[in-house]
Amino acid sequence: MVEEKHLLAYKCKKCGQLHYPFRMRCKKCGNLSQFQFDTVPLPNNGKIVTFTYAYNLPGDFAVQKLGLAIVELENGMKVTGQLKTANPKIGKTVHGKIEVVRNEGFNERYGIVFY
Ligand SMILES: [Zn+2]
Repeated sequence: MVEEKHLLAYKCKKCGQLHYPFRMRCKKCGNLSQFQFDTVPLPNNGKIVTFTYAYNLPGDFAVQKLGLAIVELENGMKVTGQLKTANPKIGKTVHGKIEVVRNEGFNERYGIVFY
């Protein structure tokens, strides 16, 4: 069995504030250094806060429509990710996975996909 990749947040070493995605500067205390953050695991489950679909995508997207959601994770942190769950509803519990969300030539871009 392949171990599931965890969602990761960037925790300020000075004040403990969590960030996702990565920021150069802590949004709480202003700590400014790329070496002042620890990576910590986030809960993979959360509830949909809001969602939408984009239909007019650039040609290098492999899908015809792209679901996007803001999800409140079990620790209260809100993150944005792709949405692939069937019958999405506000408040529905979803499970986040780290997956390739885009191929740019030979570069695979990873992001969160909620199911
Ligand atoms: Zn901080």
